[in-house]
Amino acid sequence: MIEISHLRKSFGTTDVLSGLDLSINAGELVVLLGPNGSGKSTLFRCMMGLIDYDGQISIDGLSPLTHGKAVRKEIGFMPQQCGLHLDMTVDETLEFYALIRKQSSEHAFRLLEQVNLGSTRTMKVGELSGGMRQRLSYVVAAFARPKVLILDEPISNLDRESQSLILSHLLALHEEKITILLSTHLKHDMLDVADRSFVMSEGRLWDTVTADTYAMEGAMQS
Ligand code: ADP
Ligand code: MG
Repeated sequence: MIEISHLRKSFGTTDVLSGLDLSINAGELVVLLGPNGSGKSTLFRCMMGLIDYDGQISIDGLSPLTHGKAVRKEIGFMPQQCGLHLDMTVDETLEFYALIRKQSSEHAFRLLEQVNLGSTRTMKVGELSGGMRQRLSYVVAAFARPKVLILDEPISNLDRESQSLILSHLLALHEEKITILLSTHLKHDMLDVADRSFVMSEGRLWDTVTADTYAMEGAMQS
């Protein structure tokens, strides 16, 4: 489903991704661990076709560089920074994305309830707390049951209760065989549910099963 090979990305003289390889099968739930600045968000932006890169990325047979629009259609993306319009209400936001995804907004409103945001429907996105915005951003990424879900630090700033609301929904999507890739800079319970996990370090990914203890400890904070 996702094939990445020899992926390179530099900003100025800084190499952020330096020959990264990653292969993900359809239906897998893969977790990327890595400290701030290790390149997780940069990797996701490349996969979404939002920035250019060297090397190969194929998502369901499509290249994000040449078929960015088609790739973004297949992916539900939750960026690390809230990308939603602050002056729209929650209702308007979900109606808007339902229209874009050609889906009934019913699914979106049901998921909104599930993540405990049912009472925020008439509020403006800009009036929501950071954690609420993060949950709304998850709803926007996930409600349409896309083929692929890419979630950039989806639960990092949430309290325990909100984390488990999102995690249990993610697990349900995993059961439905949706391909899920998510990043975190924290050690989470999520590791227990991941099919595979990798540590991002030196611009590449290291299998957490084979990564040595030093790299693991250095890359993760608990
Ligand atoms: P992470 O998501 O793991 O915290 P990022 O991908 O956000 O890491 O950042 C990796 C490195 O790339 C950091 O050193 C960051 O400063 C740099 N970087 C990211 N985006 C840009 C950009 N648009 N211009 C310059 N440097 C960038
Ligand atoms: Mg990031």
